[in-house]
Amino acid sequence: MKPMIYLDNAATTKTAPEVVDAMLPYFSELYGNPSSIYTIAGKSKEAITASRETIAGVLGAKPEEIYFTAGGSEADNWALKAAFEAYKGKGNHIITTKIEHHAILHTCEYLEKERGARITYLDVDEDGVVKLDQLENAITPETILISVMFANNEIGTIQPIKEIGMIAREHGILFHTDAVQAFGQVPIPVDEYDIDMLSSSGHKINGPKGIGFLYIRKGVKIRSFVHGGAQERKRRAGTENVPGIVGYGVAARRAAETMRERTQKEIQLRDYMIQRINAEVPNCKLNGHPSRRLPNNVNFSFEFVEGESLLIMLDMEGICASSGSACTSGSLDPSHVLLAIGLPHEIAHGSLRLTLSDETTKEDIDFTVDKIKEIVKKLRAMSPLYEDFVAGKTKSMIQ
Ligand SMILES: *Cc1c(COP(=O)(O)O)cnc(C)c1O
Repeated sequence: MKPMIYLDNAATTKTAPEVVDAMLPYFSELYGNPSSIYTIAGKSKEAITASRETIAGVLGAKPEEIYFTAGGSEADNWALKAAFEAYKGKGNHIITTKIEHHAILHTCEYLEKERGARITYLDVDEDGVVKLDQLENAITPETILISVMFANNEIGTIQPIKEIGMIAREHGILFHTDAVQAFGQVPIPVDEYDIDMLSSSGHKINGPKGIGFLYIRKGVKIRSFVHGGAQERKRRAGTENVPGIVGYGVAARRAAETMRERTQKEIQLRDYMIQRINAEVPNCKLNGHPSRRLPNNVNFSFEFVEGESLLIMLDMEGICASSGSACTSGSLDPSHVLLAIGLPHEIAHGSLRLTLSDETTKEDIDFTVDKIKEIVKKLRAMSPLYEDFVAGKTKSMIQ
């Protein structure tokens, strides 16, 4: 088998060896239920407390403001559904964006269809940035919540979160951010940014899968999400995922401690890759903001190319990447994010997301760009649309 080049770190990351090491004892010896009173149970409880403190420290939050969940999707669901229930006496209006993760978008659809919420989906500009004037204009006396993702999982664009937080605070509206892609990649001081709720997920930061947290600022009225025992200050019942929480804490500390150096290296490789693709592959377009983007995100559209074919051929070279389009029940719908930044369907279909890690090398990037060049050429040679373009019968839709 060819050596694998993993460039799909926005989908999930490798669990770091020190994370696995830290987790193991909580499966084998320290398996006590944290709510019990004997010694090994106490050790589990201490481990949860330590992890909560570490994570709170990374955000500049208080430990009692961190509520563990079973991942990013649960945290997003909780933030929106429970805030809506708690504040519906004040109003029923929620403002979000067209480029959120489906954990937000489908929850909004549910609240709209089943619970009587009114949702405004903000547009983004061609770089994927939310328009702040549109946000201000959308606010009404009924607005109870603004939910805008910190950084986009497909195109990597980082939103003006501090400005959005200020607007929300000025109007006395709750502000939630899905920071699943941003936590551990960029500093997130929740107080300075006026963030009231924040979602994060372990497996996106070299931690385990199936663990996440929702940060809930003290004073925010929020309903319990899972009813049962008294875990998580009675707001999210269920015996804690102790190994997961332990691993998450180690992953969060590791991400915070290595952030500067790691992201500087990733940014260099990212920009090198972007520059090489732009220079060497004709008729392509970088998606997302050129500089206000995640350190590890590269997203390109290649005209006259089918993204799925490109992915399959990259896989045959041992390269793991992702396309901009999500394959839903057999039909190929182009990504809602790429459509929201104004790409025509044809262009959105020819998109490729490559997300780097701290293990990615320049050799990996060079090999991948060489293969992309080759494959794009091959696919275009089979495309009747490309033939027409070369013959001068049609124009490029890019630039
Ligand atoms: C991955 C992801 C989620 C979902 O997190 P899970 O832990 O996989 O449920 C939510 N939002 C964004 C932006 C993501 O990238």
